[in-house]
Amino acid sequence: MQTIDALNHTLNSYLKPDQTSQVTRAYYFAEQAHYGQIRRSGEPYVTHPLAVAGILADMHMDHQSLVAAMLHDVIEDTGIEKSAIGEQFGDTVAELVDGVSKLTQMEFESLEEKQAENFQKMALAMARDIRVILVKLADRLHNMRTLGVLSTDKAKRIARETLDIYSPIAMRLGMNNVRMEFEDLGFSILYPMRARRIDAAIRNARGHRKELVENVRSQIVATLNQEGHDVRVIGREKHLYSIYKKMKSKRKSFAEIMDIYAFRIIVDSVDTCYRVLGCIHSLYKPVPGEFKDYIAIPKSNGYQSLHTVLMGMHGVPIEVQIRTREMEDMANNGIAAHWLYKSDDQGANSSQARARQWVQGLLEMQQKAGDSLEFIESVKIDLFPDEIYVFTPKGRILELPRGATAVDFAYAVHTDVGNSCVACRINRRLAPLSEALESGHTVEILTSSGARPNPSWLDYAVTAKARSNIHHFLKHQTRDDSVALGQTLLNKGFADFGTTLDQVDQDQLTEFLQEHHYTTVEDLLVDVARGSRLPAITAQQILSEHVAGTATAGRDEPVAIRGTEGYMVSFARCCHPIPGDAIEGYLSSEKGVVVHRDQCNNLADMRENSDRLVALRWDDDVQGDYPVELRVEVENRRGMIAVMATRINSMGVNIEKISTENKDYQFTFVNMEMHVENRVHLARIMKRLRDVNHVRKVVRVKN
Ligand code: MN
Repeated sequence: MQTIDALNHTLNSYLKPDQTSQVTRAYYFAEQAHYGQIRRSGEPYVTHPLAVAGILADMHMDHQSLVAAMLHDVIEDTGIEKSAIGEQFGDTVAELVDGVSKLTQMEFESLEEKQAENFQKMALAMARDIRVILVKLADRLHNMRTLGVLSTDKAKRIARETLDIYSPIAMRLGMNNVRMEFEDLGFSILYPMRARRIDAAIRNARGHRKELVENVRSQIVATLNQEGHDVRVIGREKHLYSIYKKMKSKRKSFAEIMDIYAFRIIVDSVDTCYRVLGCIHSLYKPVPGEFKDYIAIPKSNGYQSLHTVLMGMHGVPIEVQIRTREMEDMANNGIAAHWLYKSDDQGANSSQARARQWVQGLLEMQQKAGDSLEFIESVKIDLFPDEIYVFTPKGRILELPRGATAVDFAYAVHTDVGNSCVACRINRRLAPLSEALESGHTVEILTSSGARPNPSWLDYAVTAKARSNIHHFLKHQTRDDSVALGQTLLNKGFADFGTTLDQVDQDQLTEFLQEHHYTTVEDLLVDVARGSRLPAITAQQILSEHVAGTATAGRDEPVAIRGTEGYMVSFARCCHPIPGDAIEGYLSSEKGVVVHRDQCNNLADMRENSDRLVALRWDDDVQGDYPVELRVEVENRRGMIAVMATRINSMGVNIEKISTENKDYQFTFVNMEMHVENRVHLARIMKRLRDVNHVRKVVRVKN
């Protein structure tokens, strides 16, 4: 069992005294926070975070990672909040602890292969600071080491998750030592019988080979020392899981796989690597075709080393790897090794900068080697994700671009879901469709059969799929309406010249269309409806200039509004026109025809731009409900609003908005917005309100 004193000893070898003391302080903080909690092994809980910090200390991680490791279960398992950690140990540490807690809360269950990869990506995407992942890997490593005391079902679940999620993450980050230990522990838990048999075989073989291995080793050391090289020679054994995989995939017997002697030689410089290689090749005969120079041409994950195979006594092959200490460290600890070699400034930015440096380093090595960039691309994407990963209610993971909203999610699930969505729940909480999603969120879409895409969704939908579907829907829904409206408007323009679109000379029309790059007449009509072409001017242009400036007779024939024109016709919010009101239109260059009441003050201002004004009337078959605003003056009495609301509701009308404004001690103004069919309908409502006791005055609000 590790102690804080032993840890401090390690820390003093590479951290500054004040950094070491912060880690110590975090230890006592954790000890107190977890006071009374016991691990399943019977030890006090604090032994776990202490061991996790110890794992990171062995990798020479920075002090903030170690402090976070000490505190990593505090938010999750004790009552202490993130802010309290921030006050005690700084915001960076608080963020790290919070990040680890969030990863811990995620449940990685029932994984198909493809899902497993998404989970790995999700985990990486959730960690804004790469150190979160490193602390989490160390946490998982210690848990795996101590799994023996858990019930087998739970142990197996954790082991499976480790093999599916965490060991691939360790591999992506080049952390080979951690990956191998994950694999061996996971293998032993999932397949205890097989693991025990292979382990016993290894021990057995080791006993037989011991003498021979030591012979070869001392021969190598002696030869190299003679040449003046100060080296470390390690006898190497394949790890459990890799033997198992080899037996399975290459269908080799255990004896065949084990019948190889392997050594690693660690030297001080790249130059020495090649000199040592020369010495070794003169000591034993190299096997042709087995020499590989991964220093000049690194492996795609950045691995560097010289590999060679020699023919030993009795024809036994000897595998030798030669590398520098730095290469050894990179091969073992990957991204974590970066904290050892470049350690000065701290914080999340420098952590991310280091991750970037690591990727950059790999990239340079690869470019020199001219190797495939596939692995690098995947690491880069994982460390600096442009994607977020969110859950469906059933636990499926969807990948979306950063900034995506529930609308994007809905369309990603299915076009029909997108077209009929009305609201969403994010982590079970009702949320607006416009809210940006984050990795790890669970998103549920609420749909309604009558719902339709809303043009405002285009303001926040980011995926191509959502945007093109919304555009497509709006276009199809409204194009026919737009063409019809455009024709009506353009005919009004032609009326000034005593003609109609149908009567216009076809050559003149064709010439106009070509000149203005329209493929069809419909395209032109849509533009007119949209307000980007003014009817009077367009008519004049089609008929060509020699009729310019003629009379404006017939211009007064108004366009009928049915209320079903789609988004080419909208109703002004300033004056809330309803059927029965005298109305006039304004051709806005973006919104098409905007309908105002003819007494609207805003319209008066627009009269200066009279080219854009359109005479309108309500169609006899007008449909729909229209918003209107009422201002009611009532006596200051309890329950007045309830009485009025009940009256209005009893007529089948809902109040959409309500606000009050005190007039004086005796009276209050109540403003109400509701939807009505027409003026007659409104008049009935106003009458009902006037009949209410203590209501003094009811008026419709004009802007
Ligand atoms: Mn833990």
